[in-house]
Amino acid sequence: MATVTSYGAAEVVTGSCHLLAIEHGPSILVDCGMFQGPEEERNYGRFGFDPSEISYLFITHAHLDHVGRIPKLVKEGFKGVIYATEATRDIAEIIMLDSAKIMKEDFETNFRKAQRRGNEDEVRAPLYDEDDVEATFDLVWEHPEYDSTVEVQEGLTVTFRDAGHILGAAFIEITYKEDGVERTIVFSGDIGNDNTMVMQNLQKCKHANYLYVESTYGDRNHKDVEASIVEFKRVVIDTLRDWGNVLIPSFAVERTQEILCILKEMHDRKELPQCKIFLDSPMATRATEVYNNYSHLLSKQCQDYKKRDGTVFDFENLIYTPDVKASRAINDVDSRAIIIAGSGMCTGGRIIHHFKNRLWNPKNAVIFVGYQAVGTLGRHIVDGARWVKIFHEDILIKASVYTINGFSAHADQDGIIKWISQMEDLYRVYLVHGEEDKQVILRSVINNALEKKAHIVEPEEVIYLG
Ligand code: ZN
Repeated sequence: MATVTSYGAAEVVTGSCHLLAIEHGPSILVDCGMFQGPEEERNYGRFGFDPSEISYLFITHAHLDHVGRIPKLVKEGFKGVIYATEATRDIAEIIMLDSAKIMKEDFETNFRKAQRRGNEDEVRAPLYDEDDVEATFDLVWEHPEYDSTVEVQEGLTVTFRDAGHILGAAFIEITYKEDGVERTIVFSGDIGNDNTMVMQNLQKCKHANYLYVESTYGDRNHKDVEASIVEFKRVVIDTLRDWGNVLIPSFAVERTQEILCILKEMHDRKELPQCKIFLDSPMATRATEVYNNYSHLLSKQCQDYKKRDGTVFDFENLIYTPDVKASRAINDVDSRAIIIAGSGMCTGGRIIHHFKNRLWNPKNAVIFVGYQAVGTLGRHIVDGARWVKIFHEDILIKASVYTINGFSAHADQDGIIKWISQMEDLYRVYLVHGEEDKQVILRSVINNALEKKAHIVEPEEVIYLG
């Protein structure tokens, strides 16, 4: 009997890594992501399986918590074939290289500190380096198109379908034969929120016997995206009219492109006061390029922009500042600048410099457009801090702080339930990629509203698909 064991994203949100072992058949890994936040320590542990025995790796999408441990997997012996959409491959390369760079920088900083204390032997080496990332891309990659069923080997097919989450994201339908009987298991990866400006909507999944579904927001429904866009526009217009500047800490992939699209629409509709918009992030600049390259996978609005302008995101006010000199020159702009910079939770990156230069000014505004985890500078500010320490300097926050929550790239409870309700032949639902308290709520909705059996998967619990 086939089994699935979750070596990550079980009762937590991050570290997605599910092993499907087909009896007398191959072992398939679905995602191999990084643990983030309080779970981080687990990245350094053993996988719990032998990477060299895995035949195939299927990647749902390129977020760090779904791809971040792949170079470690390769370093520890994985030599199989990787299946991912072409766009996922391109975004994954940006994400993995950035991850290797951050780990290297952290290591060097910690090593210097430890040297002063004389305990440099205790500093842990990075999980992997750029060479391991390169080795990952030297393996054989297959790039299925959305909706085309690919035969992986005899008796095993896979279909990637648009998950509407980030560029290239897919939910994956795997069909295998066991004792002559065909069964289909679906891994949702992360499924998207409908009606975003950049992505297409989540596709229907018509047939599944077993479903592994994410449950990040299984306990709640989001605020309407439209209302969030209206709120965002209002803050931008009011701040610029008062000759202030707008700071937007943003994740490089998806959220940045969403924000650029809103600003471009404002420009088109002549809602935007005279201003300069800086995309001050090398990583977000690269990600935006990839989004532009795959514009046929984006929303109708984005495709129309591409047809009309030859580019999805560019317009006259938008300035990319990937190099450091151009980035520093932003400091000379006194007013009416919109600065989009990473990191999304303000744990590092150029947004910190802009905070230092502009948080003290009551004319300015900070707009948080993404989730801020506990313990991050972003969360500290969102929670109402009056003072923050930046580069050893205490800064009094006089800028207005706004949190706009409706831009989630994840489906909410209604979205998840609607998606599951469209599946025929569904025998059992397994909840992963969510915090346990939220999963308990989603489980009861699935049990009651859909009358399906749902199970919260525990770490390394072996699930028998029978
Ligand atoms: Zn994701």
